[in-house]
Amino acid sequence: MNNILNCPHCGKLFVKRIRKCCDTCFYEEEQQYDKVYRYIRKSENRNATIVDVSEATMVSENKIIYFIHQGRIRVKGYPNFTYPCDGCQNPIKDGRLCAPCKNKLKSELSIEDFISRKQEETLPYYHTDDN
Ligand SMILES: [Zn+2]
Ligand SMILES: [Zn+2]
Repeated sequence: MNNILNCPHCGKLFVKRIRKCCDTCFYEEEQQYDKVYRYIRKSENRNATIVDVSEATMVSENKIIYFIHQGRIRVKGYPNFTYPCDGCQNPIKDGRLCAPCKNKLKSELSIEDFISRKQEETLPYYHTDDN
């Protein structure tokens, strides 16, 4: 029996196999990833900020952060490349949380709980309609 789902990105119906979104969005995301990856691996872009990367690649900052969270883009060694901590929005360069939030997290249930609680306190979740 087919497993029909709505794509979380565009809402289109698709058959769930390995991917969690439809083919169109999957390929679009792969292209975006490719652009970001190619841009930041050039040595002349070592000092780029996330805004520079977003403007040069036309990929939204949220999408770039998403790739970082997935571990597909690594920004260690990029001195100016920071993105907001999921807990407090302070700039970080690694993982999803800054050091103070990580320390606080030790007493919490899970990183996902911690982040969703923090997001309710501070900002709405990432916009998804900006690409
Ligand atoms: Zn889609
Ligand atoms: Zn933090």
